[in-house]
Amino acid sequence: MAKEEVLECSFCGRKKPETDLLIAGLDAHICDKCIEQAHGIVLEEIAENSSSTLSSELIVKKPKEIKAFLDQYMIGQDQAKRVMSVAVYNHYKRLLQPVSKDEEEIEIEKSNIIIVGETGTGKTLIARTIAKMLNVPFCIVDATVLTEAGYVGEDVETILTRLLQAADYDVNKAERGIVFIDEIDKIARKGDNPSITRDVSGEGVQQALLKLLEGSVVNVPPKGGRKHPDQKFIEVNTKNILFVAGGAFSGIDKIIGKRLNRQAVGYSASIKEDKVDENNLLQYIIPSDLKSFGLIPEIIGRLPVLTHMNPLDAYTLRAILTEPKNSIIKQYQKLFKMDGIDFSINESALSYIVDKAVEYKLGARGLRSLCEAVLTDAMFELPGTDEKLLKITKKYAEDKINKSTLKKLKAVS
Ligand code: ADP
Repeated sequence: MAKEEVLECSFCGRKKPETDLLIAGLDAHICDKCIEQAHGIVLEEIAENSSSTLSSELIVKKPKEIKAFLDQYMIGQDQAKRVMSVAVYNHYKRLLQPVSKDEEEIEIEKSNIIIVGETGTGKTLIARTIAKMLNVPFCIVDATVLTEAGYVGEDVETILTRLLQAADYDVNKAERGIVFIDEIDKIARKGDNPSITRDVSGEGVQQALLKLLEGSVVNVPPKGGRKHPDQKFIEVNTKNILFVAGGAFSGIDKIIGKRLNRQAVGYSASIKEDKVDENNLLQYIIPSDLKSFGLIPEIIGRLPVLTHMNPLDAYTLRAILTEPKNSIIKQYQKLFKMDGIDFSINESALSYIVDKAVEYKLGARGLRSLCEAVLTDAMFELPGTDEKLLKITKKYAEDKINKSTLKKLKAVS
């Protein structure tokens, strides 16, 4: 009894009654408080080491390597791939530059990206694939749910909550991640829109986004939702987070067309000689078109890399079905194989699916829905039976699609 009274923590000297827990070792004791402190030190050390290994991993990827990686997963869109590869390379090069106290030193600015392209043309895919290659945390947020503080909706800071979640709350990792902001066009200021609420999620949100995009320390609610006074926040520095914004900017082709026409009148020679491709005006996009659409100049300035996605033609859609490393058809093959079923689909069935995707104006996203419509019955019926072979012909695909609800889409589109 008397002996127990003198027990104390060998690290801080606290007597046993002053601790909540005292754990005995061979020749020493440690109290709960010292364990907690030591745990903190261990976490810090690990974080420091992992951030330096992250840096050494990153330096390897040159723009050509990034593009080659993208080529495995994505068909076409060469221009976007090149622009993205360079922007990402520069971003991580900037991240690896040693911190310099020298005022004269040239500071490389952030190269956040904005991609304009119709829905289903691969804007999300390109950002996701780059994050996968770099092995950095990645999240997708929808700009339409964001509102100014004080209104119904989500605070802009919750964007970073998602990134933290993707990084398993490792702040160090999150601070080097990639955020894809989808539907950025939906927060454009609409001059002719009579609704007051429009501006709540419009210009105000653009203003709030500025601070995130340019790089600052932001208080992030760890579980998202609305901020409230008693909440604990996690500080996240957005200086090294790469933001990729995407949007369909429906109608921007008209803005581009008008501008090109004006230019053609003003400086008749150059544009007319180059012959404008009327079917794909997005390729001529310049930052001022985004301004005409309703993005504020400050936002445009903080998304300095502008690129576009080409619309997907039948040829590209056909390639998307089977060529990428994890193409839709390869995925179905794998799914059926897990049930011991040998799945194949012939060329005319594939062409039929592509034609339907074009007809329904569903883009690449439609390919997936169409394949589901064709294969759902088989995926339901076959597992557990003796049938080990599934050959899809055009007739089979036709029957299933005619039966499906997809057919109704044509009526609405
Ligand atoms: P967006 O973000 O432009 O609306 P997504 O990136 O979400 O479009 O693409 C929709 C689907 O189409 C995804 O499943 C994607 O894998 C596929 N897809 C789109 N474009 C391509 C492409 N060029 N190559 C391969 N798959 C593509």
